[in-house]
Amino acid sequence: MSIRLSSNCKSCAELAESLTCNVHNVKVNEKYTCDSFSNASELINAIQCTNCTFFKKDDCSKPAQATEGMLCSDWAPADV
Ligand code: SF4
Ligand code: SF4
Repeated sequence: MSIRLSSNCKSCAELAESLTCNVHNVKVNEKYTCDSFSNASELINAIQCTNCTFFKKDDCSKPAQATEGMLCSDWAPADV
């Protein structure tokens, strides 16, 4: 079985940059999902270390691995 991104709020098309769900209008994170989950490959491709608020900062949880095209569950939008 191949490894895939999980179907959680962090990989949902309805996640706004403020980490608020556009459907339910509440703050969400990678621990949650719902029946309205919408997988958006464009969004997944757009979210990566280079636009994470922690990129190249001391509070990045994986500084040795952080690079373009990589993503971890600690990602947070850089422009909030
Ligand atoms: S609560 Fe549902 S619709 Fe909202 S971001 Fe999470 S998975 Fe997507
Ligand atoms: S996504 Fe994770 S590894 Fe990448 S910069 Fe953000 S915190 Fe660091």
